[in-house]
Amino acid sequence: MPELPEVETVRRGLEPAMAGRTIALAEVRRPDLRWPFPDAMAERLSGARIDALGRRSKYLLLHLDRGETLIVHLGMSGRMQVEHQKLGVFHHETAPLAQHDHVIFHMDHGSRVVFNDPRRFGAMDLVATDRLDDHWLLAKLGPEPLGNAFDEDHLVAAFAGRNTPVKSALLDQRIVAGLGNIYVCEALHRAGISPRRKAGRIAARRVRALVPIIRDTLGDALEAGGSSLRDYRQADGALGYFQHTFRVYDREGSPCVTDRCGGTISRIVQSGRSTFHCPQCQR
Ligand SMILES: [Zn+2]
Repeated sequence: MPELPEVETVRRGLEPAMAGRTIALAEVRRPDLRWPFPDAMAERLSGARIDALGRRSKYLLLHLDRGETLIVHLGMSGRMQVEHQKLGVFHHETAPLAQHDHVIFHMDHGSRVVFNDPRRFGAMDLVATDRLDDHWLLAKLGPEPLGNAFDEDHLVAAFAGRNTPVKSALLDQRIVAGLGNIYVCEALHRAGISPRRKAGRIAARRVRALVPIIRDTLGDALEAGGSSLRDYRQADGALGYFQHTFRVYDREGSPCVTDRCGGTISRIVQSGRSTFHCPQCQR
């Protein structure tokens, strides 16, 4: 499932094709994805200019000149493709099929942006831009991890007294928005914190240190995403950028990359999801 860096990479990849451009025709080929599409979505999108392409957490935001914003969530398997250019091939790849091209944006300059989603866990909704923050998908989201509101004091306060494992606390979108399973595992390994440790029992100085580590983890993934976009324009290969940057995710049984650790990455299950960590250097 795409997390914040992947969605941001998609946003950046879509910008040249969509920002400042008009949707000549929106083709909506089914009534729903995870939820029904909003009423008259095709009509409300066709002819609208996209003033700006934003992002909140894992949601793409297409701000239209008509005072509405299209919220797009990629779900498990959704992707946006510009003509034949794929933006974001995620860790668990599924074969793209034209039959899963559910929404097609025919842009005024001739290119097409296709929303393809075989598993249909994605979502789209149209909302008045001035009430965007009240939308049910966005209203309860905590601060953006790369924004100023996500700082050391915020995280210390959010963790205080919490009896849940730190892994779950960081996945809680009310505490910080946009982190998912992969980057939480990665950040905790960088921080040397056990994913099982109770959030409220971690020393404040270690919690504070987590903030720049989370930013760096996401920043490195964004950098990899950016170079994968550039590479993609040059070659016709896949954007398989994750695999090269994981320290623990999906590396069960592999040696820990921490200097002089000598540990082996292990997989445990927390709240029904795999956690990868090094029992040796994450305490
Ligand atoms: Zn280790």
